Amino acid sequence: MKEIGHWINGKLVAGTSGRFADVYNPATGEVQARVALASEAELNQAIADAEKAQVKWAATNPQRRARVMMAFGALINQNMDKLAELVSVEHGKTLPDARGDVQRGLEVIEVCMGLAAQLKGEYTDSAGPGIDLYAMRQPLGVVAGITPFNFPAMIPLWKMGPALSAGNAMILKPSERCPSTSLLLAQLAQEAGLPDGVLQVVNGDKGVVDGLLDHPTIQAVGFVGSTPIAQYIYGRAATNGKRAQCFGGAKNHMIIMPDADLDKAADALIGAGYGAAGERCMAISVAVPVGQKTADALIEKLVPRIEKLKVGPYTAGNDVDFGPVITKASQERILGLINSGVEQGAKLVVDGRNLKIQGYENGFFVGASLFDNVTRDMEIYKQEIFGPVLSTVRAETYEDALQLIMDNEYGNGTAIFTADGDTARDFASRVNVGMVGINFPIPVPLSYYSFGGWKKSAFGDLNQYGPDAFRFYTKTKTVTARWFSGIKEGAALNFKALD
Ligand code: NAD
Repeated sequence: MKEIGHWINGKLVAGTSGRFADVYNPATGEVQARVALASEAELNQAIADAEKAQVKWAATNPQRRARVMMAFGALINQNMDKLAELVSVEHGKTLPDARGDVQRGLEVIEVCMGLAAQLKGEYTDSAGPGIDLYAMRQPLGVVAGITPFNFPAMIPLWKMGPALSAGNAMILKPSERCPSTSLLLAQLAQEAGLPDGVLQVVNGDKGVVDGLLDHPTIQAVGFVGSTPIAQYIYGRAATNGKRAQCFGGAKNHMIIMPDADLDKAADALIGAGYGAAGERCMAISVAVPVGQKTADALIEKLVPRIEKLKVGPYTAGNDVDFGPVITKASQERILGLINSGVEQGAKLVVDGRNLKIQGYENGFFVGASLFDNVTRDMEIYKQEIFGPVLSTVRAETYEDALQLIMDNEYGNGTAIFTADGDTARDFASRVNVGMVGINFPIPVPLSYYSFGGWKKSAFGDLNQYGPDAFRFYTKTKTVTARWFSGIKEGAALNFKALD
Protein backbone atom coordinates (compact mmCIF):
# COMPACT_ATOMS: atom_id res chain seq x y z
CA MET A 1 0.00 0.00 0.00
CA LYS A 2 1.38 3.41 -1.00
CA GLU A 3 2.08 5.63 2.02
CA ILE A 4 1.83 9.40 1.83
CA GLY A 5 3.85 11.34 4.39
CA HIS A 6 4.63 15.02 4.95
CA TRP A 7 6.86 17.70 3.40
CA ILE A 8 9.12 18.96 6.16
CA ASN A 9 12.22 21.15 5.85
CA GLY A 10 12.46 20.60 2.12
CA LYS A 11 12.02 16.81 2.13
CA LEU A 12 9.32 14.21 1.87
CA VAL A 13 9.26 12.41 5.21
CA ALA A 14 7.28 9.43 6.44
CA GLY A 15 4.85 9.92 9.29
CA THR A 16 5.86 8.58 12.69
CA SER A 17 2.54 8.73 14.55
CA GLY A 18 1.36 5.30 13.45
CA ARG A 19 -2.01 6.85 12.53
CA PHE A 20 -3.26 6.89 8.95
CA ALA A 21 -6.34 7.74 6.89
CA ASP A 22 -7.36 5.88 3.76
CA VAL A 23 -7.12 7.71 0.43
CA TYR A 24 -9.64 6.32 -2.04
CA ASN A 25 -9.82 6.16 -5.78
CA PRO A 26 -13.41 7.47 -5.96
CA ALA A 27 -13.94 5.94 -9.41
CA THR A 28 -13.25 2.37 -8.27
CA GLY A 29 -14.11 2.72 -4.60
CA GLU A 30 -10.77 1.13 -3.71
CA VAL A 31 -8.26 2.39 -1.18
CA GLN A 32 -5.26 3.48 -3.27
CA ALA A 33 -2.99 4.84 -0.52
CA ARG A 34 -2.91 5.78 3.10
CA VAL A 35 -1.90 9.17 4.37
CA ALA A 36 -0.06 9.72 7.63
CA LEU A 37 -1.86 11.77 10.27
CA ALA A 38 0.74 13.82 12.11
CA SER A 39 1.13 13.66 15.87
CA GLU A 40 1.33 16.72 18.09
CA ALA A 41 5.11 16.27 18.37
CA GLU A 42 5.53 16.14 14.59
CA LEU A 43 3.41 19.26 14.17
CA ASN A 44 5.24 21.15 16.90
CA GLN A 45 8.62 20.35 15.34
CA ALA A 46 7.40 21.48 11.91
CA ILE A 47 6.21 24.77 13.41
CA ALA A 48 9.47 25.32 15.32
CA ASP A 49 11.53 24.77 12.16
CA ALA A 50 9.23 27.05 10.15
CA GLU A 51 9.63 29.78 12.77
CA LYS A 52 13.42 29.70 12.33
CA ALA A 53 13.26 29.62 8.52
CA GLN A 54 10.76 32.50 8.39
CA VAL A 55 13.18 35.07 9.86
CA LYS A 56 15.60 34.84 6.93
CA TRP A 57 12.81 34.57 4.36
CA ALA A 58 11.15 37.74 5.70
CA ALA A 59 14.48 39.56 5.45
CA THR A 60 14.87 38.52 1.79
CA ASN A 61 13.96 41.52 -0.31
CA PRO A 62 10.50 41.45 -1.94
CA GLN A 63 11.84 41.28 -5.48
CA ARG A 64 13.83 38.17 -4.69
CA ARG A 65 10.76 36.61 -3.13
CA ALA A 66 8.85 37.58 -6.26
CA ARG A 67 11.45 35.79 -8.38
CA VAL A 68 10.77 32.60 -6.44
CA MET A 69 7.09 33.05 -7.34
CA MET A 70 8.05 33.54 -11.01
CA ALA A 71 10.06 30.32 -11.05
CA PHE A 72 7.28 28.54 -9.13
CA GLY A 73 4.72 29.66 -11.71
CA ALA A 74 6.92 28.40 -14.54
CA LEU A 75 7.33 25.01 -12.84
CA ILE A 76 3.59 24.70 -12.24
CA ASN A 77 3.08 25.30 -15.94
CA GLN A 78 5.69 22.74 -16.89
CA ASN A 79 4.12 20.19 -14.54
CA MET A 80 0.51 20.99 -15.42
CA ASP A 81 -0.30 17.48 -16.68
CA LYS A 82 1.31 15.75 -13.72
CA LEU A 83 -0.49 18.01 -11.24
CA ALA A 84 -3.82 17.57 -13.02
CA GLU A 85 -3.43 13.79 -12.99
CA LEU A 86 -2.74 13.83 -9.24
CA VAL A 87 -5.88 15.91 -8.72
CA SER A 88 -7.99 13.55 -10.82
CA VAL A 89 -6.70 10.34 -9.33
CA GLU A 90 -7.56 11.36 -5.77
CA HIS A 91 -10.54 13.65 -6.39
CA GLY A 92 -12.11 11.95 -9.41
CA LYS A 93 -12.76 15.10 -11.50
CA THR A 94 -12.10 15.01 -15.24
CA LEU A 95 -8.66 15.96 -16.54
CA PRO A 96 -9.78 19.19 -18.27
CA ASP A 97 -11.47 20.21 -15.02
CA ALA A 98 -8.37 19.26 -13.03
CA ARG A 99 -6.27 21.45 -15.34
CA GLY A 100 -8.68 24.28 -14.56
CA ASP A 101 -8.12 23.57 -10.85
CA VAL A 102 -4.36 24.01 -11.31
CA GLN A 103 -4.78 26.98 -13.66
CA ARG A 104 -6.97 29.03 -11.29
CA GLY A 105 -4.35 28.46 -8.56
CA LEU A 106 -1.50 29.37 -10.89
CA GLU A 107 -3.21 32.67 -11.67
CA VAL A 108 -2.93 33.63 -8.00
CA ILE A 109 0.81 32.84 -8.10
CA GLU A 110 1.05 35.13 -11.15
CA VAL A 111 -0.36 38.01 -9.10
CA CYS A 112 2.11 37.20 -6.31
CA MET A 113 4.94 37.82 -8.80
CA GLY A 114 4.04 41.51 -8.48
CA LEU A 115 3.95 41.47 -4.70
CA ALA A 116 6.54 44.21 -4.26
CA ALA A 117 3.96 46.70 -5.53
CA GLN A 118 1.28 45.27 -3.23
CA LEU A 119 3.52 45.58 -0.19
CA LYS A 120 4.49 49.24 -0.67
CA GLY A 121 3.83 51.26 2.44
CA GLU A 122 2.55 54.80 3.07
CA TYR A 123 4.54 57.95 3.76
CA THR A 124 3.63 61.47 4.85
CA ASP A 125 6.42 63.96 4.62
CA SER A 126 6.38 66.73 7.30
CA ALA A 127 3.33 65.50 9.16
CA GLY A 128 4.42 68.02 11.86
CA PRO A 129 7.50 70.18 12.43
CA GLY A 130 10.41 67.90 11.60
CA ILE A 131 8.06 64.93 11.75
CA ASP A 132 7.54 62.25 9.12
CA LEU A 133 4.96 59.53 9.37
CA TYR A 134 5.18 56.22 7.58
CA ALA A 135 3.46 52.86 7.63
CA MET A 136 4.96 49.59 6.55
CA ARG A 137 3.48 46.16 6.08
CA GLN A 138 5.37 43.34 7.74
CA PRO A 139 4.75 39.60 7.54
CA LEU A 140 2.95 37.95 10.43
CA GLY A 141 5.40 35.09 11.04
CA VAL A 142 4.18 31.49 10.77
CA VAL A 143 0.64 31.07 9.45
CA ALA A 144 -1.59 28.07 8.80
CA GLY A 145 -3.53 27.04 5.70
CA ILE A 146 -6.26 24.41 6.09
CA THR A 147 -7.87 23.33 2.83
CA PRO A 148 -10.78 21.20 1.56
CA PHE A 149 -10.83 18.21 -0.79
CA ASN A 150 -12.63 19.77 -3.71
CA PHE A 151 -9.84 21.90 -5.22
CA PRO A 152 -6.65 20.04 -4.31
CA ALA A 153 -4.40 22.40 -6.33
CA MET A 154 -6.24 25.71 -6.52
CA ILE A 155 -7.01 26.35 -2.87
CA PRO A 156 -3.59 25.37 -1.46
CA LEU A 157 -2.13 27.78 -4.06
CA TRP A 158 -4.58 30.50 -2.99
CA LYS A 159 -3.23 30.06 0.53
CA MET A 160 0.48 29.60 -0.06
CA GLY A 161 1.00 32.24 -2.78
CA PRO A 162 0.02 35.40 -0.86
CA ALA A 163 1.26 34.12 2.53
CA LEU A 164 4.72 33.08 1.33
CA SER A 165 5.33 35.94 -1.05
CA ALA A 166 4.51 38.38 1.75
CA GLY A 167 7.36 36.87 3.78
CA ASN A 168 5.54 34.41 6.04
CA ALA A 169 6.20 30.74 6.61
CA MET A 170 3.19 28.47 6.19
CA ILE A 171 2.06 25.18 7.67
CA LEU A 172 -0.32 23.78 5.08
CA LYS A 173 -2.75 21.07 6.16
CA PRO A 174 -4.45 19.80 3.01
CA SER A 175 -7.53 17.63 2.97
CA GLU A 176 -6.67 14.10 4.03
CA ARG A 177 -8.80 12.86 1.11
CA CYS A 178 -6.60 14.51 -1.56
CA PRO A 179 -3.19 15.08 0.03
CA SER A 180 -0.76 14.38 -2.85
CA THR A 181 -1.12 17.52 -4.95
CA SER A 182 0.04 19.77 -2.09
CA LEU A 183 3.15 17.64 -1.64
CA LEU A 184 4.10 18.02 -5.30
CA LEU A 185 3.41 21.76 -5.14
CA ALA A 186 5.74 22.06 -2.14
CA GLN A 187 8.44 20.20 -4.04
CA LEU A 188 8.04 22.57 -7.02
CA ALA A 189 8.20 25.60 -4.69
CA GLN A 190 11.51 24.30 -3.36
CA GLU A 191 12.84 23.80 -6.89
CA ALA A 192 11.81 27.39 -7.54
CA GLY A 193 14.08 28.57 -4.74
CA LEU A 194 11.83 28.61 -1.68
CA PRO A 195 14.10 27.99 1.33
CA ASP A 196 13.56 24.78 3.28
CA GLY A 197 11.18 25.06 6.21
CA VAL A 198 9.27 28.06 4.85
CA LEU A 199 6.51 25.81 3.53
CA GLN A 200 5.72 22.70 5.60
CA VAL A 201 2.97 20.38 4.44
CA VAL A 202 1.69 18.52 7.49
CA ASN A 203 -0.96 15.94 6.74
CA GLY A 204 -3.54 15.16 9.34
CA ASP A 205 -7.09 15.40 10.59
CA LYS A 206 -8.82 17.28 13.39
CA GLY A 207 -5.86 16.65 15.71
CA VAL A 208 -3.48 18.66 13.52
CA VAL A 209 -6.07 21.39 12.96
CA ASP A 210 -6.65 21.80 16.69
CA GLY A 211 -2.90 21.76 17.26
CA LEU A 212 -2.53 24.64 14.79
CA LEU A 213 -5.40 26.59 16.35
CA ASP A 214 -3.90 26.35 19.83
CA HIS A 215 -0.23 26.83 19.00
CA PRO A 216 1.08 30.22 20.14
CA THR A 217 3.50 30.56 17.20
CA ILE A 218 0.72 30.38 14.60
CA GLN A 219 -0.32 33.96 13.88
CA ALA A 220 -3.11 33.49 11.36
CA VAL A 221 -5.36 30.78 10.02
CA GLY A 222 -6.66 30.67 6.46
CA PHE A 223 -9.36 28.01 6.21
CA VAL A 224 -11.61 26.77 3.42
CA GLY A 225 -14.18 24.02 3.94
CA SER A 226 -17.70 23.40 5.17
CA THR A 227 -19.61 25.99 7.20
CA PRO A 228 -19.77 24.18 10.56
CA ILE A 229 -16.00 23.63 10.54
CA ALA A 230 -15.34 27.18 9.28
CA GLN A 231 -17.37 28.59 12.15
CA TYR A 232 -15.63 26.34 14.67
CA ILE A 233 -12.16 27.24 13.41
CA TYR A 234 -12.96 30.94 13.32
CA GLY A 235 -14.16 30.85 16.93
CA ARG A 236 -11.23 28.86 18.29
CA ALA A 237 -8.60 30.81 16.34
CA ALA A 238 -10.09 34.14 17.45
CA THR A 239 -10.29 33.01 21.08
CA ASN A 240 -6.59 32.26 20.87
CA GLY A 241 -5.89 35.74 19.51
CA LYS A 242 -5.16 34.74 15.93
CA ARG A 243 -6.26 36.33 12.71
CA ALA A 244 -8.67 34.07 10.89
CA GLN A 245 -10.39 34.05 7.54
CA CYS A 246 -12.63 31.01 7.23
CA PHE A 247 -14.57 30.31 4.07
CA GLY A 248 -17.51 27.96 4.30
CA GLY A 249 -20.22 26.23 2.32
CA ALA A 250 -22.77 27.56 -0.10
CA LYS A 251 -26.19 27.32 -1.67
CA ASN A 252 -25.89 29.34 -4.85
CA HIS A 253 -29.04 30.45 -6.68
CA MET A 254 -29.41 31.52 -10.28
CA ILE A 255 -32.40 33.64 -11.29
CA ILE A 256 -33.70 33.14 -14.82
CA MET A 257 -35.83 36.10 -15.90
CA PRO A 258 -38.56 35.72 -18.55
CA ASP A 259 -36.47 37.83 -20.96
CA ALA A 260 -33.35 35.64 -20.60
CA ASP A 261 -31.92 33.67 -23.49
CA LEU A 262 -33.13 30.29 -22.24
CA ASP A 263 -30.70 28.19 -24.27
CA LYS A 264 -27.80 30.10 -22.82
CA ALA A 265 -29.31 29.90 -19.33
CA ALA A 266 -29.84 26.14 -19.66
CA ASP A 267 -26.27 25.60 -20.89
CA ALA A 268 -24.97 27.69 -18.00
CA LEU A 269 -26.99 25.66 -15.48
CA ILE A 270 -25.62 22.40 -16.85
CA GLY A 271 -22.02 23.53 -16.45
CA ALA A 272 -22.52 25.23 -13.10
CA GLY A 273 -24.84 22.61 -11.62
CA TYR A 274 -23.21 19.37 -12.71
CA GLY A 275 -19.55 20.23 -13.47
CA ALA A 276 -17.20 18.49 -11.02
CA ALA A 277 -20.25 16.47 -9.88
CA GLY A 278 -21.58 19.61 -8.18
CA GLU A 279 -18.65 19.55 -5.74
CA ARG A 280 -17.81 23.23 -6.09
CA CYS A 281 -18.49 25.93 -3.54
CA MET A 282 -19.52 28.11 -6.49
CA ALA A 283 -21.76 25.47 -8.09
CA ILE A 284 -25.28 26.62 -8.86
CA SER A 285 -27.53 24.28 -6.90
CA VAL A 286 -30.80 26.22 -7.12
CA ALA A 287 -32.39 27.48 -10.34
CA VAL A 288 -35.02 30.17 -9.78
CA PRO A 289 -37.05 30.76 -12.94
CA VAL A 290 -39.40 33.73 -12.73
CA GLY A 291 -42.93 33.02 -13.97
CA GLN A 292 -44.56 29.66 -14.77
CA LYS A 293 -43.91 30.00 -18.51
CA THR A 294 -40.18 30.56 -17.93
CA ALA A 295 -40.05 27.61 -15.52
CA ASP A 296 -41.82 25.19 -17.89
CA ALA A 297 -39.67 26.23 -20.83
CA LEU A 298 -36.47 26.02 -18.79
CA ILE A 299 -37.24 22.50 -17.52
CA GLU A 300 -38.00 21.44 -21.08
CA LYS A 301 -34.57 22.68 -22.18
CA LEU A 302 -32.71 21.22 -19.20
CA VAL A 303 -34.01 17.64 -19.37
CA PRO A 304 -32.46 16.55 -22.71
CA ARG A 305 -29.22 18.28 -21.83
CA ILE A 306 -29.04 16.47 -18.48
CA GLU A 307 -29.93 13.13 -20.03
CA LYS A 308 -26.99 13.52 -22.40
CA LEU A 309 -24.44 14.01 -19.61
CA LYS A 310 -21.84 11.27 -19.42
CA VAL A 311 -20.61 10.18 -16.03
CA GLY A 312 -17.53 8.04 -15.48
CA PRO A 313 -13.90 7.76 -14.43
CA TYR A 314 -11.49 10.51 -15.51
CA THR A 315 -9.46 7.89 -17.36
CA ALA A 316 -12.26 7.72 -19.97
CA GLY A 317 -11.06 11.12 -21.23
CA ASN A 318 -13.44 13.12 -23.38
CA ASP A 319 -16.19 10.54 -22.95
CA VAL A 320 -16.91 11.87 -19.49
CA ASP A 321 -18.54 15.13 -18.37
CA PHE A 322 -18.16 14.56 -14.66
CA GLY A 323 -16.80 11.94 -12.32
CA PRO A 324 -17.68 10.35 -8.99
CA VAL A 325 -18.23 12.13 -5.70
CA ILE A 326 -15.49 12.00 -3.13
CA THR A 327 -16.48 9.20 -0.71
CA LYS A 328 -19.02 6.46 -0.17
CA ALA A 329 -20.40 8.48 2.76
CA SER A 330 -20.87 11.46 0.47
CA GLN A 331 -22.58 9.30 -2.17
CA GLU A 332 -24.94 7.87 0.45
CA ARG A 333 -25.70 11.31 1.89
CA ILE A 334 -26.56 12.68 -1.58
CA LEU A 335 -28.77 9.68 -2.42
CA GLY A 336 -30.47 10.09 0.97
CA LEU A 337 -31.15 13.75 0.24
CA ILE A 338 -32.63 12.89 -3.17
CA ASN A 339 -34.93 10.38 -1.42
CA SER A 340 -35.94 13.04 1.10
CA GLY A 341 -36.79 15.44 -1.73
CA VAL A 342 -39.14 12.86 -3.23
CA GLU A 343 -40.69 12.14 0.17
CA GLN A 344 -41.20 15.82 0.91
CA GLY A 345 -43.08 16.36 -2.34
CA ALA A 346 -40.59 17.78 -4.84
CA LYS A 347 -40.88 16.49 -8.40
CA LEU A 348 -37.83 14.44 -9.42
CA VAL A 349 -37.72 15.21 -13.13
CA VAL A 350 -34.42 13.45 -13.82
CA ASP A 351 -33.47 10.66 -11.44
CA GLY A 352 -29.75 9.88 -11.13
CA ARG A 353 -30.06 7.48 -8.23
CA ASN A 354 -29.65 4.21 -10.07
CA LEU A 355 -26.59 4.96 -12.13
CA LYS A 356 -24.26 1.99 -12.54
CA ILE A 357 -21.12 2.15 -14.61
CA GLN A 358 -19.83 -1.06 -16.09
CA GLY A 359 -16.47 -1.97 -14.60
CA TYR A 360 -16.86 0.70 -11.91
CA GLU A 361 -19.75 -0.74 -9.94
CA ASN A 362 -18.12 0.17 -6.62
CA GLY A 363 -17.25 3.74 -7.62
CA PHE A 364 -18.88 6.63 -5.78
CA PHE A 365 -21.01 7.76 -8.72
CA VAL A 366 -24.28 9.65 -8.59
CA GLY A 367 -26.14 10.43 -11.81
CA ALA A 368 -27.24 13.95 -12.67
CA SER A 369 -30.58 14.70 -11.01
CA LEU A 370 -33.09 17.50 -11.46
CA PHE A 371 -35.85 18.54 -9.09
CA ASP A 372 -38.79 20.83 -9.88
CA ASN A 373 -41.28 22.39 -7.45
CA VAL A 374 -38.80 22.59 -4.61
CA THR A 375 -39.86 24.71 -1.62
CA ARG A 376 -37.96 26.47 1.14
CA ASP A 377 -38.88 23.99 3.87
CA MET A 378 -37.44 20.90 2.11
CA GLU A 379 -34.13 19.38 3.17
CA ILE A 380 -32.86 19.48 -0.42
CA TYR A 381 -33.31 23.25 -0.29
CA LYS A 382 -31.97 23.79 3.21
CA GLN A 383 -28.82 21.70 2.95
CA GLU A 384 -25.74 22.11 0.80
CA ILE A 385 -26.01 18.87 -1.21
CA PHE A 386 -22.54 19.10 -2.79
CA GLY A 387 -23.50 16.63 -5.51
CA PRO A 388 -24.90 16.60 -9.06
CA VAL A 389 -28.39 17.67 -8.01
CA LEU A 390 -30.09 20.83 -9.27
CA SER A 391 -33.22 22.08 -7.50
CA THR A 392 -35.75 24.34 -9.19
CA VAL A 393 -37.64 26.78 -6.97
CA ARG A 394 -40.31 28.57 -8.99
CA ALA A 395 -40.78 32.27 -8.23
CA GLU A 396 -43.70 34.42 -9.32
CA THR A 397 -41.84 37.69 -9.53
CA TYR A 398 -38.33 39.08 -9.58
CA GLU A 399 -38.86 40.43 -6.06
CA ASP A 400 -39.84 36.94 -4.80
CA ALA A 401 -36.74 35.45 -6.42
CA LEU A 402 -34.51 38.12 -4.90
CA GLN A 403 -36.11 37.66 -1.47
CA LEU A 404 -35.48 33.91 -1.61
CA ILE A 405 -31.77 34.54 -2.06
CA MET A 406 -31.72 37.29 0.56
CA ASP A 407 -33.32 34.95 3.11
CA ASN A 408 -30.91 32.08 2.48
CA GLU A 409 -28.31 31.62 5.19
CA TYR A 410 -25.47 31.23 2.67
CA GLY A 411 -24.10 34.04 0.51
CA ASN A 412 -21.19 32.74 -1.53
CA GLY A 413 -22.16 33.23 -5.19
CA THR A 414 -25.28 33.97 -7.20
CA ALA A 415 -26.23 34.77 -10.78
CA ILE A 416 -28.98 36.31 -12.85
CA PHE A 417 -29.77 35.65 -16.49
CA THR A 418 -31.65 38.51 -18.11
CA ALA A 419 -31.63 40.74 -21.18
CA ASP A 420 -32.48 43.80 -19.10
CA GLY A 421 -29.63 45.95 -17.80
CA ASP A 422 -31.83 47.66 -15.24
CA THR A 423 -32.83 44.36 -13.60
CA ALA A 424 -29.22 43.19 -13.62
CA ARG A 425 -28.00 46.40 -11.99
CA ASP A 426 -30.72 46.27 -9.37
CA PHE A 427 -29.83 42.66 -8.57
CA ALA A 428 -26.08 43.30 -8.30
CA SER A 429 -26.69 46.27 -6.04
CA ARG A 430 -29.27 44.76 -3.66
CA VAL A 431 -28.41 41.08 -3.29
CA ASN A 432 -26.62 40.13 -0.03
CA VAL A 433 -24.15 37.72 -1.63
CA GLY A 434 -20.39 38.18 -2.03
CA MET A 435 -19.91 37.23 -5.70
CA VAL A 436 -22.46 38.03 -8.38
CA GLY A 437 -22.69 36.88 -12.00
CA ILE A 438 -24.70 38.67 -14.68
CA ASN A 439 -25.37 36.22 -17.49
CA PHE A 440 -22.37 34.44 -15.97
CA PRO A 441 -23.04 31.38 -13.82
CA ILE A 442 -19.84 30.89 -11.79
CA PRO A 443 -18.51 34.35 -10.98
CA VAL A 444 -15.19 33.39 -9.38
CA PRO A 445 -13.27 36.69 -9.47
CA LEU A 446 -9.98 36.80 -11.34
CA SER A 447 -6.88 36.61 -9.21
CA TYR A 448 -6.23 40.35 -9.04
CA TYR A 449 -9.61 40.80 -7.32
CA SER A 450 -10.44 38.90 -4.13
CA PHE A 451 -12.70 35.90 -3.45
CA GLY A 452 -15.16 35.63 -0.60
CA GLY A 453 -18.78 35.06 0.28
CA TRP A 454 -21.12 36.71 2.76
CA LYS A 455 -23.34 35.42 5.55
CA LYS A 456 -22.55 31.83 6.59
CA SER A 457 -20.24 31.35 3.61
CA ALA A 458 -17.38 33.25 5.24
CA PHE A 459 -16.20 34.24 8.70
CA GLY A 460 -13.66 37.04 9.03
CA ASP A 461 -13.45 40.37 7.28
CA LEU A 462 -10.91 39.97 4.48
CA ASN A 463 -11.26 37.84 1.37
CA GLN A 464 -8.79 35.37 -0.05
CA TYR A 465 -6.18 36.17 -2.77
CA GLY A 466 -5.75 39.54 -4.46
CA PRO A 467 -5.29 42.76 -2.49
CA ASP A 468 -7.23 41.49 0.53
CA ALA A 469 -4.90 38.52 0.95
CA PHE A 470 -1.82 40.74 1.13
CA ARG A 471 -3.56 42.71 3.88
CA PHE A 472 -4.52 39.53 5.69
CA TYR A 473 -1.00 38.10 5.64
CA THR A 474 0.74 41.31 6.75
CA LYS A 475 0.38 43.62 9.71
CA THR A 476 0.77 47.37 9.66
CA LYS A 477 3.45 49.15 11.60
CA THR A 478 3.23 52.93 11.69
CA VAL A 479 6.28 54.98 12.57
CA THR A 480 6.23 58.61 13.67
CA ALA A 481 9.76 59.98 13.29
CA ARG A 482 11.16 63.29 14.47
CA TRP A 483 14.73 64.27 13.84
CA PHE A 484 15.97 67.18 15.97
CA SER A 485 18.06 69.79 14.26
CA GLY A 486 21.63 68.60 14.52
CA ILE A 487 24.71 68.73 12.42
CA LYS A 488 23.05 70.88 9.76
CA GLU A 489 23.02 74.00 12.03
CA GLY A 490 25.65 72.98 14.51
CA ALA A 491 28.42 72.02 12.13
CA ALA A 492 31.56 74.06 12.64
CA LEU A 493 33.86 74.34 9.70
CA ASN A 494 36.83 75.71 11.58
CA PHE A 495 39.32 73.32 13.14
CA LYS A 496 38.89 73.55 16.92
CA ALA A 497 39.73 71.55 19.97
CA LEU A 498 37.05 69.36 21.58
CA ASP A 499 35.86 70.68 24.97
P1 NAD B 1 -14.49 19.99 5.49
O1 NAD B 1 -14.99 21.14 6.31
O2 NAD B 1 -14.95 18.63 5.84
O3 NAD B 1 -12.87 19.92 5.59
C1 NAD B 1 -12.07 21.04 5.33
C2 NAD B 1 -10.79 20.91 6.15
O4 NAD B 1 -11.10 20.91 7.54
C3 NAD B 1 -10.00 19.63 5.87
O5 NAD B 1 -8.64 19.93 5.81
C4 NAD B 1 -10.34 18.75 7.06
O6 NAD B 1 -9.30 17.88 7.41
C5 NAD B 1 -10.59 19.75 8.18
N1 NAD B 1 -11.60 19.28 9.14
C6 NAD B 1 -12.68 18.50 8.89
N2 NAD B 1 -13.38 18.28 10.01
C7 NAD B 1 -12.75 18.94 11.00
C8 NAD B 1 -12.99 19.09 12.41
N3 NAD B 1 -14.04 18.53 13.00
N4 NAD B 1 -12.13 19.84 13.12
C9 NAD B 1 -11.08 20.42 12.53
N5 NAD B 1 -10.78 20.30 11.21
C10 NAD B 1 -11.61 19.58 10.46
O7 NAD B 1 -14.77 20.35 3.98
P2 NAD B 1 -14.59 19.43 2.69
O8 NAD B 1 -15.64 18.37 2.70
O9 NAD B 1 -13.18 19.01 2.54
O10 NAD B 1 -14.90 20.49 1.53
C11 NAD B 1 -16.18 20.76 1.04
C12 NAD B 1 -16.74 22.01 1.67
O11 NAD B 1 -15.88 23.12 1.44
C13 NAD B 1 -18.08 22.41 1.06
O12 NAD B 1 -18.95 22.83 2.10
C14 NAD B 1 -17.73 23.58 0.14
O13 NAD B 1 -18.77 24.49 -0.11
C15 NAD B 1 -16.64 24.22 0.93
N6 NAD B 1 -15.79 25.06 0.10
C16 NAD B 1 -15.86 26.41 0.28
C17 NAD B 1 -15.08 27.26 -0.51
C18 NAD B 1 -15.12 28.74 -0.31
O14 NAD B 1 -14.18 29.42 -0.74
N7 NAD B 1 -16.13 29.29 0.32
C19 NAD B 1 -14.25 26.71 -1.50
C20 NAD B 1 -14.21 25.32 -1.64
C21 NAD B 1 -14.98 24.50 -0.83
